[in-house]
Amino acid sequence: MTKSERNPSWTRDELLVALDYYLDNSDDYFSPASQGVIELTAKIGQVAKALGLAGSETLRNANGVSMKLMNFRSHDPHHSTKGLSRGNKLKEVIWAEFANHPDTLKRAVSGILEITQASTGADAPFFWTDDIDEAKEGRLLTRMHRVRERNSTLVRKKKASFFEQNGHLRCEACSFDFENTYGKRGEGFIECHHTKPVSELSSGETTKLTDLVLLCSNCHRMVHAARPWWTLEQLKLALSS
Ligand SMILES: [Zn+2]
Ligand SMILES: [Zn+2]
Repeated sequence: MTKSERNPSWTRDELLVALDYYLDNSDDYFSPASQGVIELTAKIGQVAKALGLAGSETLRNANGVSMKLMNFRSHDPHHSTKGLSRGNKLKEVIWAEFANHPDTLKRAVSGILEITQASTGADAPFFWTDDIDEAKEGRLLTRMHRVRERNSTLVRKKKASFFEQNGHLRCEACSFDFENTYGKRGEGFIECHHTKPVSELSSGETTKLTDLVLLCSNCHRMVHAARPWWTLEQLKLALSS
């Protein structure tokens, strides 16, 4: 076993949970012996477990978590005390994406922790063959987005309701119609995209038909091709310009 297998790099999901804690306690010294850091370490262990990381629960210890928190301090312009500057690129990126959007971060973290608590660990390591770009809110919420938009019962209902209203199926962004282009083979073919912001997904909720839009494969791919994912409005704007 190589060193990196024993200690895989921190994931976005784990770093988001840590950053949320940092922003709530930015004046703390983050002692590894403090109650807060100990509890945070346990939460991050649960996230690692839900992600199926090797060694999961004991993967991150309080010393490591405390160091990550001090790493965040090195990016914090409100802090005169310099933190530890060593760290990975991902942490810098996450700081840039979320430090000024604590509410979005908090919603995403609460979604991540909900999934984590519902996870038995038996669903991990989960099937991750998707080549879409992971949402900025992390892997667990990305998975929830994909599961929601691939719910076959809902997808069938969404297509049926659109067909009933419009008499055919087409991409709601670019109007591409698979049957028009590909003939019989394209009949009934279209993808579904879940429009709810990823940071607002929560495990207890059921998907409404109005949360879904029909997209052709190209448009759907472009939505997910980079972070942050495009909203439907951003996709339409890109198509119109
Ligand atoms: Zn399209
Ligand atoms: Zn999608």
